[in-house]
Amino acid sequence: MEILSHQRSKIIATVGPACSKKEKLEELVRAGVDAFRLNFSHGNHADHQQVIESIRQINSEQNLHIGIIADLQGPKLRIGSIKNNKLELNPGDVLTFVNKECIGTIKQIYMNYAQFAQDVQTGDRILIDDGKLIFEVVETNKIDTVKLKTIYGGILSSNKGVNLPDTNISLPSLTDKDLKDLEFLFQQPIQWIALSFVRSPDDVADLIKILRQNGHPARVMAKIEKPEALAHIDQIIHLADAIMIARGDLAVEVPMERLPIIQKDIIRRCLQASKPVVVATQMMESMIDNPSPTRAEITDVANAVLDGTDCLMLSAETSVGKHPAKVVQAMTSIIDEAELVFDLSPTRAVPEPNSKTFLSDVLCLNTAKTASELKCKAIIGMTSSGYTAFKVSSFRFKTPIHIFSDLTDTLSMLSIVWGVRCHYYDKFVSTDETIEDVVRILKQKQILKPGDLAVNIGSMPLYKRYRANMMKITVVE
Ligand code: PEP
Repeated sequence: MEILSHQRSKIIATVGPACSKKEKLEELVRAGVDAFRLNFSHGNHADHQQVIESIRQINSEQNLHIGIIADLQGPKLRIGSIKNNKLELNPGDVLTFVNKECIGTIKQIYMNYAQFAQDVQTGDRILIDDGKLIFEVVETNKIDTVKLKTIYGGILSSNKGVNLPDTNISLPSLTDKDLKDLEFLFQQPIQWIALSFVRSPDDVADLIKILRQNGHPARVMAKIEKPEALAHIDQIIHLADAIMIARGDLAVEVPMERLPIIQKDIIRRCLQASKPVVVATQMMESMIDNPSPTRAEITDVANAVLDGTDCLMLSAETSVGKHPAKVVQAMTSIIDEAELVFDLSPTRAVPEPNSKTFLSDVLCLNTAKTASELKCKAIIGMTSSGYTAFKVSSFRFKTPIHIFSDLTDTLSMLSIVWGVRCHYYDKFVSTDETIEDVVRILKQKQILKPGDLAVNIGSMPLYKRYRANMMKITVVE
């Protein structure tokens, strides 16, 4: 089964008990998944190892390049356990948070954030369980105890997530758990590491440094879910290799009505910077239980495609939902339809003359333009780093982009890039021979046929692996 979908927008599925077996993962790939996310907030290393091995086997048995994204938990704040897993709170109720583990009652509830009492101020809002319950700080002893007044009550249950939209959190971006998870990941063939709760460009730089020190080729995806990250968004986009708009926490951390505009703004900035961007969370939420999506979800998925996102991500829908394959099939058909009317020409980036990649950027733009004008069936590129694929894709012309490389990690890494399909190729004899070879491979795969036009982009001489410096128009024989 070599699947070469014609879809340009990619689908990421989160793995969990509903789809972690190899046959289920294969079913999702057949339905249209391009990359899998392993969520390190759940599961243990042995479980993740098993899933990574299954994806590796699927790739090698079926000649695919499905990518793997390891999503680190980051400084996620949580309360501890609650007595009988249920505490009913009404407006005006006062409860006390402490930083020592205990069984939670209204008298004391544990929170996994040692500096909580030092960092909060009277009046700060505390949101629990994705903002379903809202509190306000009425007192802090600045050591270990904080009193909260219930503003919007409900049932509080164990281990719920906590968001502090008004507070500067002093926790490091990589927790002890993240560092242990990274130790494990350094031994794994994964292509992306997603960093949760990024607050500053330094958070991204720190993870890149650790990866380089350990010689791991994974790229860094910065999850945007804090207001502090929005304040430094251009620098974060510049440093990170990709961006995830993590709408779950983001919509709790910023006024929720800002979410659609933030999504459009971040996608536009990523396109300008040629960095892949992922729209995540609650895209098909109702399908966790139901066999079909709501009208609002159908429209949300289509709008993300029309905004120009590279990827759409499924979370609980595939990890714990009742119909993982149906969700992917439904998302695939919504994407198909939206791509028929897709037009991002007004936001197309212009190469920056002062950039050190200016020459190849102009070449990438003109390759994509030429292919579009000539109604070519393919843009065909060679890459080592993936740069040509990122760049050509970011101009969002509709011609399918076929990328060849001898580096399997690069091919799987490109699984999340809009419009890009990848192929293994390891002969580097001469430019002429390579162009003939890659066209022949695409003919064998029935992507090209005699009489079709294609545009090749690559570098000469081939063996030097320079950035792209050559374009050729090919008439398929
Ligand atoms: C999110 O908050 O939208 C998100 C993707 O993060 P997680 O699923 O790790 O909470």
